[in-house]
Amino acid sequence: MAYKTINPYTNEVVKEYSNTTDQELEEALQIGKNLYEKFKTQPVKERGKILHDVAAKIREQADELARACTIDMGKLFTEAQGEVELCAIIADWFADHSEEMLKPEPVETSAHGTAEIQHHATGVLMMVEPWNFPYYQIMRVFAPNFMVGNPMILKHASNTPTSAQVMADVILEAGAPKGALTNLFMTYDQVTAAIEDSRVQGAALTGSERGGEAVASAAGKNLKKTTMELGGMDPFIVLDDANMDDVSNIAWRSRLYNAGQECTSSKRFIVMENVYDEFVEQLKESFSKVKPGDPLDPKTTLAPMNTKKAKEDLQEQVDEAINAGAKVVYGNEPIDLPGQFFMPTILTNVDRDNPAHTTEMFGPVAVVYKVSTEEEAIELANDSSYGLGGIVFAGDSEHGAEVASQIETGMVFVNDFRYSLPELPFGGVKRSGYGREMSRLGQMAFVNEKLIVKADRPDMNNLAGGLIATDPE
Ligand code: NAP
Repeated sequence: MAYKTINPYTNEVVKEYSNTTDQELEEALQIGKNLYEKFKTQPVKERGKILHDVAAKIREQADELARACTIDMGKLFTEAQGEVELCAIIADWFADHSEEMLKPEPVETSAHGTAEIQHHATGVLMMVEPWNFPYYQIMRVFAPNFMVGNPMILKHASNTPTSAQVMADVILEAGAPKGALTNLFMTYDQVTAAIEDSRVQGAALTGSERGGEAVASAAGKNLKKTTMELGGMDPFIVLDDANMDDVSNIAWRSRLYNAGQECTSSKRFIVMENVYDEFVEQLKESFSKVKPGDPLDPKTTLAPMNTKKAKEDLQEQVDEAINAGAKVVYGNEPIDLPGQFFMPTILTNVDRDNPAHTTEMFGPVAVVYKVSTEEEAIELANDSSYGLGGIVFAGDSEHGAEVASQIETGMVFVNDFRYSLPELPFGGVKRSGYGREMSRLGQMAFVNEKLIVKADRPDMNNLAGGLIATDPE
C-alpha cells in the first residue's frame, strides 16, 4: 500500500490505506458529473451557506485536524493550528465574496444590443496536492471551485493520507453534498485516466516540477485547462539601509517555518556587503536557538522533516554543495533524536555553477550571497529558473517596492514576512508554474467566461457591413 501515515517524529507506521480501485474512480467521476448538473440549478448563495458551515466545522475540529497533520508530516502543532485556522478564513472569504465575483459582468461594446460575461462552472476537476500544507493546499482549490459549482476529485500526497481523508470528511459532515470533494488514494496512472475522462474539465496541481510536468502534459494532450503551483527558490534581498532588527526577526523564520519545507521559504539570502557580516551573525544566532523535539510539544521550535527520504535527499544536496565549494558557516551536523531532524544549516561561497545555486533545497538550509550593488542583487535574484515569491528589506519601503517590481516572480513582500490570505493571489512564473490560486484570479481559474450578446432584433447594418463572414445569399 503506497498511502501511509508514518509519524516522522517517532518513525511509527500509524495507518495504511488501500489504493482506490478503478471501479471506485469511475463511481467518483459519475457522482461528480451528476453533482455538476445539479449545481447548475443551485444559486451560488446556497453554496455560500454550506461553505460557512465548512469553516465553522473546521474551527470546531481544529485541534483534531492539527494533530492529524502533525502526525502525518511532522509540522509543529502550533503551525498546524495556524494552517487550520487559515483554511477556515479562506472558506469564509469565498463564502462571502464569490457571489459578487461570479455575477455577470456587463461589457461596454459598440455591438448592437447589450453584452455580458457570465461565469459558469465547467465540470469535474482533478486536484493533485502535496504534503507540506496538507489542508491549506486543498482549501485553496476547494473553496473557490465549490462556489463556482465544479465538483472535485482529490489525489493527495502518499504520506499525508490521514489529513486528506479527515479534511474530506469534515467538508462532507459540514453539509457539502457527496462528490463536492472526493478524496481517493490514486495511482499516477489513475490520475492520468481521470484527466483523460470527458467528465473532467481541468486539473490543479501543487507540487514539484516532476509532478507538474506529468499532470500538465496529460492535460495538454487532452486539451484540458491546468493551474500549476510548483517549486521556488525565493530571494530574500537585504538592501544597504535595511532595518537590521526587523531583518533579524524575520529572516530565520522565513527559512525555518514548516522546517523549511515551503515553496515560498526564503531559500536565497542576497545581502549587501555593508550589512553582510552582521546578517550572517544574526542568522547563525537565530538558527542556534531553535529547539528540536516532539512537534506536538508547544516548546519545540524545530520540527522533523516530513520523511526519512526527504532528510536523506537534503543531506545529499548539502554534501554536493560542499563538494562544489560551498562553505558551511553553521549547522550540517546530526541531531541525536530518532525523528527525521535536519540541523538548520547556512551555506556561503555558493558559485553560480554550484548545484545549490540552481536546485531547490526543500528543508532548513539557507544559502547566503554577498553583493555590492542593488543591480547585482536584482540580477542575482533573477538568475533562477524559478519565479515564485520573494522578500525585499529596504530602509524606505517605496524604494523596496521599486526593487520588488524588478524581481521576476509572482509575489514579493517588502519589509515584512511573507504570508497568504484569501484576497491575495498566490502563484508564480517561469518554472514555478502558471495560473493563480486565491483572490478573484483564483476564483476564475476554472470558470467558463461565457459571452452573451442580447439584441431585440438582428442588426441589419452589421450584416450589410460584412461583419458576418458568410453572406447568406
Ligand atoms: P510532488 O512529488 O510533485 O508531489 C505533489 C503531488 O503530486 C503528490 O500528491 C504526488 O503524489 C503527486 N504526483 C507526483 N508525481 C505525479 C505524477 N506523475 N502523476 C500524478 N501525480 C503525481 O511534490 P513534492 O516534492 O512532494 O512537494 C514539494 C514541492 O512542491 C516543492 O517543489 C515545493 O516548492 C512545491 N510546492 C509548491 C507550492 C506552490 O504553491 N507553488 C506549494 C507547496 C509546495 P505522491 O505523493 O503519491 O508522489
